[in-house]
Amino acid sequence: MNEMTTKRKKATVSEKENPCFKCKAQCCGHVAVPIDKPTAAGDFDDLRWYLAHKNVCVFVEDNDWYICFTTPCRFLSKNYRCEIYETRPAICRKYKTETCEGTSTEDPYDLKFDTIEQIEAYAKEYLNKRKARQKKGTLKA
Ligand code: SF4
Ligand code: SF4
Repeated sequence: MNEMTTKRKKATVSEKENPCFKCKAQCCGHVAVPIDKPTAAGDFDDLRWYLAHKNVCVFVEDNDWYICFTTPCRFLSKNYRCEIYETRPAICRKYKTETCEGTSTEDPYDLKFDTIEQIEAYAKEYLNKRKARQKKGTLKA
């Protein structure tokens, strides 16, 4: 999502200070959709399938899991402006520059998986730990 209008005239000082003017609008380059947290082998197998596809990743942010498709918005112009700024979707309107990937210095992800191998390694460890807790009786089956 790119917060500046395509119909902007000469930029004012405050507009020049807006980080969106210097940014290539990473926020308009993907779609992230919440998914259930995986807890069983079958759930992880679904994630393997997602990650078998190009330009798909899975990430965790604030304990919420998402599938992410890297694909630019059709309405992102060549100079990284929103071509439908006045009617852009609510999700774009709510997006905050203060915490966006264009301005944040912190890694936004708690976890990020780009390949099948990465999710397999995570699943192995997670399921082993879960099994151990079930054996100890500290986790319900
Ligand atoms: S509609 Fe506009 S603000 Fe929203 S993702 Fe597309 S280019 Fe970005
Ligand atoms: S990533 Fe952030 S700074 Fe860049 S266009 Fe999007 S909201 Fe603006």
